[in-house]
Amino acid sequence: MTRRLNIAVIGAGIAGLSCATALQAAGHSVQVFDKSRGGGGRMSTRRSADETWQCDHGAQYFTARDPAFAAEVARWQQAGVAALWAPRVAVLNDPSLRQPGPLDRFVGTPRMTAPAQWLAESLKLSLGTTVQRLHRDGPLWQLETAEHGRLDSRFDAVLLALPAPQAWPLAEPHAPALAAAAASVRMRGCWALMLQFDGPVDLPFDAAFVNSGPLRWIARDSSKPGRPAANAAPQETWLLHAEAEWSEAHLELPPDEAAALMLAAFAALGGPAPPRWTAHRWRYADTRQPLLDGCLWDVSLRLGLCGDWLNGGKVEGAWLSGQGLAAKLSLSPAVCERSSTAHQHQQELAMNPSFHHFSELFAQLGLATDDDGIRTFIEQHRPLPAGTLLADAAFWTPAQAALLREQKQLDADWAEIVDQLNLALH
Ligand SMILES: Cc1cc2nc3c(=O)[nH]c(=O)nc-3n(C[C@H](O)[C@H](O)[C@H](O)COP(=O)(O)OP(=O)(O)OC[C@H]3O[C@@H](n4cnc5c(N)ncnc54)[C@H](O)[C@@H]3O)c2cc1C
Repeated sequence: MTRRLNIAVIGAGIAGLSCATALQAAGHSVQVFDKSRGGGGRMSTRRSADETWQCDHGAQYFTARDPAFAAEVARWQQAGVAALWAPRVAVLNDPSLRQPGPLDRFVGTPRMTAPAQWLAESLKLSLGTTVQRLHRDGPLWQLETAEHGRLDSRFDAVLLALPAPQAWPLAEPHAPALAAAAASVRMRGCWALMLQFDGPVDLPFDAAFVNSGPLRWIARDSSKPGRPAANAAPQETWLLHAEAEWSEAHLELPPDEAAALMLAAFAALGGPAPPRWTAHRWRYADTRQPLLDGCLWDVSLRLGLCGDWLNGGKVEGAWLSGQGLAAKLSLSPAVCERSSTAHQHQQELAMNPSFHHFSELFAQLGLATDDDGIRTFIEQHRPLPAGTLLADAAFWTPAQAALLREQKQLDADWAEIVDQLNLALH
């Protein structure tokens, strides 16, 4: 039997919403707090005041390799809040690279915020509420907020679904070990530039990975499915993302100076000058080396952390991180008083992180692709000696090593998986 808890989830990004929906479905009372005016976090869309124009300026698309996340995305598709996006993708500025292989890319419809808004519909959500401090009242938690001071509500558990640098100051006074994990990762900024054109843009692709200069990714936002008519031809909206290290080095530039440099790089790729543009500076866009813990949970304090930085650094990892934390909380001794099938399922989820996301890569490497086979391979071959690059490890055949080197360069999606395998093996 499960004891019903009163739970505060701080952060209404996809990790927090995933965690909150799982806990509410398990019978707990959940309240989600977010400092912004709408949920979704970095799955975000800029809209004009009159709502005639929009552009996704955070996450561009998401993949669904894990079966549980694939099932969730299917639910989103059925609800009309996500769809496949099949852009013509190019890889620019490196003639040695082939075009990326086929990949299912999903986007929110009619905008990237839609899946989060759909999840939030069934939750108790307090927006415009910045949590500044956590207080202990005996075994319970109280929240101190910038807008409303110290809230009256007491919570049995607090779950921080925040980027690492924002989770750290809240966790640090109570749980130094959790705070240390948050302090150990480096999150990087990203300049985003949204371009509005009055006519069609004559470039032979809808999206491109750019492998040199300030830009990393450019996309014809209006080629995404379900966008409003105002975004459709002949008008076009493009999105430029700057490369992470370049963004970090230029994060404090005034927006017009950052924009000028990015527009010059776009012009060098054949892009026309836009009549209108808007810049956005993300302070915490991605994690240089995300952790692989999945989530973190202090059972005695009932304080937990989830988010993309704990699980690979993308939308899929963030959603799974939220699910993992919900499962860990449900397994806590004071919460779960009797074993049940659901309990066993949650136990499996929390104790045996899925390695399914490696299966496509393992298939290409000619290795076993089921979870057990992948887990056994990783356990047998780790740890790699410090300083050894993944592709240089002695156990690969020359063909496997070449494939890993090539995949790392070829496509950001595969590069991410190869990075995760690298971390898992070290
Ligand atoms: C520029 C950019 C490009 C990206 N491209 C891709 C991509 O193509 N594919 C992909 O899969 N992923 C991409 N990502 C990453 C993806 O967006 C994230 O992995 C994912 O959205 C993270 O979700 P989250 O819930 O962990 O964190 P977030 O989405 O950051 O959610 C955290 C929430 O916490 C709130 N918050 C912060 N501090 C407080 C506080 N003190 N009190 C209350 N609320 C607070 C914030 O307002 C936010 O809503 C991109 C991200 C960026 C920025």
